[in-house]
Amino acid sequence: MTEWAASVVVVGAGPAGIAAAIRAEGAGRSVILIDQAQRPGGQIWRHRDRAALPRQARSWLQRLDRSSVRLLTGASVVDAEPSSRLRVDLGGRPLGVRWNDALVLATGSHERFVPFPGWTLPGVVGVGGAQALLKSGMDVAGMEVVLAGSGPLLLPVAATLSRAGANLTLVAEQAPLGRVIRFGAALWRSPSRWLDAARYRAGFLRTPYRTGTWVLRAEGEDRVREVTLTDGDGERTLPCDLLCTGFGLTPASELARLLGCATDGWRVKVDGVQATSEDGVYCAGEACGIAGAEIAILEGEIAGLAAAGDRAGAERLGRRRPPHDRFVAGLAQAFRLREELSALPAGTTLVCRCEDVPLERLRDFGSTREAKLHTRAGMGPCQGRICQPALQHFFGWGIDSVRPPLFPTSLSVLAAPEEDESPPPPTSIT
Ligand SMILES: Cc1cc2nc3c(=O)[nH]c(=O)nc-3n(C[C@H](O)[C@H](O)[C@H](O)COP(=O)(O)OP(=O)(O)OC[C@H]3O[C@@H](n4cnc5c(N)ncnc54)[C@H](O)[C@@H]3O)c2cc1C
Repeated sequence: MTEWAASVVVVGAGPAGIAAAIRAEGAGRSVILIDQAQRPGGQIWRHRDRAALPRQARSWLQRLDRSSVRLLTGASVVDAEPSSRLRVDLGGRPLGVRWNDALVLATGSHERFVPFPGWTLPGVVGVGGAQALLKSGMDVAGMEVVLAGSGPLLLPVAATLSRAGANLTLVAEQAPLGRVIRFGAALWRSPSRWLDAARYRAGFLRTPYRTGTWVLRAEGEDRVREVTLTDGDGERTLPCDLLCTGFGLTPASELARLLGCATDGWRVKVDGVQATSEDGVYCAGEACGIAGAEIAILEGEIAGLAAAGDRAGAERLGRRRPPHDRFVAGLAQAFRLREELSALPAGTTLVCRCEDVPLERLRDFGSTREAKLHTRAGMGPCQGRICQPALQHFFGWGIDSVRPPLFPTSLSVLAAPEEDESPPPPTSIT
C-alpha cells in the first residue's frame, strides 16, 4: 500500500479542519488534510459554486488554495492505528497516511433520527441531508414539503427550501415554546446567533413555525404522500412530497473512539488546547460538542497551533473562546427530546434500517451490544451512526465500541499490506 506522511494530519475538511490545517501549516509544518467529500467545506460550506458561499467561507477556502496543505478529497479514513497510521480508501484504492507529530480529528457531526411509522419511506429525508442535497442541486420547486424535528438547524434548512421554490407548508419543532424562548433569551451574549436566526426566519416568513409539535407518522404506498403531526391535543394531516426530519446532531466521534480517545457521551473530551486523552491526537469542531461553525473554526485554529507545537499561541487563542460549554448544555437542554417521541414507533417500525431490524425484535435485549449480536442492529453500512442514538433514546442503552471499517470499503483496501513510505503526494488529490 502506498504510504504518505506529514508532520500534521487533519481528518475532516469542514470549518474546523480547514482552520486547523491552515494554522498548522502557518506554523511551518507539513500538513495533509483528508476528507471523504469531493470538495473541502464540510457540511455548512458544502457547495457547487464557490461564489455563492458567504465571504468567511470563501476567504478560508482561498487561504487553503494558497497554502501548501496537501488536500486529499474523496478519501475516507476507514481504520486507524494508535501507532500513527490511518488507512484511507481513496476512491477504492488503499492509502496509508502517517502523522509524524500530531493528528487533528475534525470529523463533525451526524444527524439524529427518531424512528416513527413511515420514516423509511422514499421522500423522507434528514433535515441536514436535505440541506446537503439542496446544496448539490436537488430540485424541490413546487414540491409540498414539511419540516419536522428539532433544533436550530431547522431554520437555515427551511430558508433554503423556501428559496429553492418548495411549497413549505409547516416547520414543526418538537420542543415547547417556553424552552425555545428561554434558549433564545440566553443567547443575548451572542448577537451574531440572533442575527442569523432572524435572517433565516425572514427566509420563510410565509410558513408557520410551530413549537410543541411533532410528527406522528408518514404515509404513502410507494413514497411519502402525507404526514400526520400533533401538538399533543389534536392531529393534523398534510399532503407531502418531501418530509425532512431530524432531531438535532450527534458528534461524529467514531474515529476518535477507535483511537482510544476518552469521550463524554458522544463528545470527544479535550483540554484547553483541544488535546484529547491520546498523546499527539487533537480534536476540534462538532466532534467535541455541537456548537456551530464559529466555535468550530476557533477550535480548529487552536488545535492546529497546538498540533504544530505552538502551545503558547494555542493557549492565547483559547482565551478568546467564549464559554461555550454553557451554550452546548443549553442547546441540549432546550431541544431535549420529549417523552412522547419514545412512543412513536410501532412494533413493526424499523429502528435499524440498514439491517431491517424492527423495534419489536429489540425489546428483549439489555444493551446495544446484546441487540447487535442477536439481531445485527448497527452492523450495516452506517455502522450504528443512525440507530445507536435511537436505541439510546428508546431504551437508555449506552454507546457500543467502534470497530473498523468506519465506512463501507473493499477487502482490497482493508487487506492491503503496509509498505515503505512513498514520495510526498501532490498538493491536491481526488
Ligand atoms: C448533514 C448536516 C448538514 C448541516 N448543514 C448545516 C447548515 O446548512 N448550516 C449550519 O449552520 N450548520 C449545518 N450543520 C451543522 C454544521 O455541521 C456545523 O455548524 C459546522 O459545519 C461544523 O463544522 P465541523 O468542521 O466541526 O464539521 P463538518 O463541517 O461536519 O466537517 C466534518 C468533515 O469531516 C469529514 N469526515 C468525517 N469523518 C471522516 C472520515 N472518517 N474520513 C474522511 N472524512 C471524514 C466529513 O466528510 C466532513 O466534511 C449541518 C450538519 C450536518 C450533519
